Amino acid sequence: MRRNTRTWPVFSVNTRRSRIDPSPPYQRGLVWSRSKKQLFIDSLIRDFDIPKLYLRRTDDANSQYEWEVVDGQQRLNAIWEFLGNEYPVSNDAAPVGNHRIGGKLFKDLNANVQEQLQGYELNIVELEESEDQEIEDMFIRLQSGMPLNAAENRNAISGPIRDFVRNVASTHQLITDSIAFPNRRFAHDEIVAQMLMIEINGGPAPVTSSRLRAMYENGSRFNERSASASKFKRVLNFLAQSFPEKSPELTKTNVLSLYTVASESLSKYAISNRAKSFGKWFVDFEKRRKEHQEKPEDQIEPEMYSYQLAILQASASEPSQRERRRVLIEDLLTYMPDLRLLDDQRLFTSEQRASIFRKSNGKCADPSSNPDCVGKCVWDNFHADHIVPYSSGGRTVVNNGQVLCPSCNLKKSDSH
Ligand SMILES: [Zn+2]
Repeated sequence: MRRNTRTWPVFSVNTRRSRIDPSPPYQRGLVWSRSKKQLFIDSLIRDFDIPKLYLRRTDDANSQYEWEVVDGQQRLNAIWEFLGNEYPVSNDAAPVGNHRIGGKLFKDLNANVQEQLQGYELNIVELEESEDQEIEDMFIRLQSGMPLNAAENRNAISGPIRDFVRNVASTHQLITDSIAFPNRRFAHDEIVAQMLMIEINGGPAPVTSSRLRAMYENGSRFNERSASASKFKRVLNFLAQSFPEKSPELTKTNVLSLYTVASESLSKYAISNRAKSFGKWFVDFEKRRKEHQEKPEDQIEPEMYSYQLAILQASASEPSQRERRRVLIEDLLTYMPDLRLLDDQRLFTSEQRASIFRKSNGKCADPSSNPDCVGKCVWDNFHADHIVPYSSGGRTVVNNGQVLCPSCNLKKSDSH
């Protein structure tokens, strides 16, 4: 790697704007607040010394860019936006000489002040003949003065998982169009990485920063064509069909839960062509959940209550994910009581059983003909019975299920 030190006046940074790649893959998202940008511009106007900027010369003839920003992304952006009149000097800025500058856009500044700013000479270190790895190391070192958050740090780890996550986060419709939170400081990469981890794990997993970091570091053999990567994309496509437009329901916590539910449902149930209903179901669930929060204490539904508790836990924690998953799948099956199992097995799944039990509040379906019927069953002792028997072609779906108490179940099986 060769280093050349140059000075570029601010105006030439501006004319070279289209030739500088402000966000190469290892870079962080934009994090400077307006007041920070204003302070920086004020420093330039008043000719304060500022640290060097690092640009890497790209050797790629096919690239539209001649340089990429290794360090100085926020500063360059502050310059570009200010010269583009996107924000003013801070209101309380002191005059420069006898020119008032407070609250003014670049175009409204006195011509001398404009010139002073445009002529400020920035110290640039131009890096040539550098390897990706060298640049990423350098990026991490240069940033050590201002700690990166976990997602930004992960993003500086090169490898197939980072690239895959980046690509999905910046191109998949679910992320670009449907989710309800902005991509501040790699929030989109974070949610994609968390979903991927859940898929690789085969269900709820602690998706903490340290676990995600380990996944990035140990993922050198990750393959986009692997079974888990294909399944991952299938689930994302399903969710994108479920929520074709920006949906306020798709918060960070909800996206993670929905991923878990969709992934499991696609593996177990014949739901792949019912994405639209899946989306409607969740919107309805969120509506009921919000209404439930307004309800007086004596009308609290235990399921909603336990879901609410799970939301209050960290969404990265595994127990919270498991509980949300359980409540959501049972609710989904109640909403779509005709949802078939893919393998058409005879036994109801535990979520189907729960939904069947709740449907009748645990009451035995046929107490009249049996004097020993207990009437209302308890949760851990009831039979989920096929209304139309499985042997006669009855399906293992919630709306073909009913509760029988142990005694009635015995009587029914004797009579068959
Ligand atoms: Zn009974």
